[in-house]
Amino acid sequence: MLLTDSTGRTINYLRLSVTDRCNLRCFYCMPKEGIVNKGHAAVLTYEELLLVAETAVGLGIEKIRITGGEPLVRADIIGFLEKLAGIPGLRHIALTTNGLLLAEMADDLYRAGVQRLNVSLDSLHPHTFSEITRGGDLKKVLAGLDAAEQAGFPPPKINCVIMRGVNDAEILDFAERTLSNGNSIRFIEYMPAVKEDDWQRYSISGEEILGRIADRYMLEHVDKGPFSGPSRDFRIPGARGSIGIITAVSGHFCSECNRIRVTSTGQAKGCLFSDTKTDLIPWLRPPDRVGLAGVLKEIVSTKPERHDISQAGYTHTNFTMSHVGG
Ligand code: SAM
Ligand code: SF4
Repeated sequence: MLLTDSTGRTINYLRLSVTDRCNLRCFYCMPKEGIVNKGHAAVLTYEELLLVAETAVGLGIEKIRITGGEPLVRADIIGFLEKLAGIPGLRHIALTTNGLLLAEMADDLYRAGVQRLNVSLDSLHPHTFSEITRGGDLKKVLAGLDAAEQAGFPPPKINCVIMRGVNDAEILDFAERTLSNGNSIRFIEYMPAVKEDDWQRYSISGEEILGRIADRYMLEHVDKGPFSGPSRDFRIPGARGSIGIITAVSGHFCSECNRIRVTSTGQAKGCLFSDTKTDLIPWLRPPDRVGLAGVLKEIVSTKPERHDISQAGYTHTNFTMSHVGG
């Protein structure tokens, strides 16, 4: 079954957040003081998350990415992933993690049926990494990357948010990792989530990132795989990993957007930057599969055509990326 929105885009990808808790406090994602965690009752149970997933797959979703907060801090996440992997028709399960707990959990994640890992890593220097994450230990993430491969995963994709004056001097070091370690790198433009009036001071466009790499290395285009998102992908000849640019802010990402999002408290969003969200709780408590399918279809059919972040005068309600799931 094909799920299409009003502009003809096929929507086959659900980002499902399982928690808004996190063991880091990245400065671009969460306020310094952290966030008030939603109480247990507000967060969807695993049964409710599975109902959302099953219903979405029944409508045409083929890929689900588990995100958070930090998904690996939720108790019994492995048991949940095993059940998720058993949903007929679900072709691809990916998980985005900060990697802190990966060294100890990689084997279980692989056995549970997760097919692909994305690890967020914004600096290869311990001090800068600790500053960005407000205290994170880089060694643990690097150990997690190794453990993932030993467990049987393909080299994890690294998500790297590039910020001017913070880590932009490391663009080439990350690009080099596609040659030396086989990781693919996705450079993500910094997005204005934790509201700061001067957020643009960190901004570096995907074009500039690409330009800096192209000054040093030859780059060839890479054709997209069936489940790749709206990144533009390149490869340094001979590298095992690819280099992707996700121009969520500057680029024309929206025309290829294939995703919807559901937060850990059951708020569904057709667009990350839209203030419109739909509360799924009335269809989950008590469970109403038919009603839930109807409301998910409605979210897809009213998915905004594009966001306006780069337009003058753009405003949105402040949100924490850890709640929406990135
Ligand atoms: N905790 C997990 C992690 O960090 O990978 C999953 C959740 S995190 C919210 C998902 C992704 O959102 C991460 O790759 C993170 O770098 C990205 N992200 C968070 N805030 C962002 C921002 N302001 N701009 C761009 N990307 C952001
Ligand atoms: Fe946590 Fe991920 Fe947000 Fe960092 S980006 S604070 S690791 S949820």
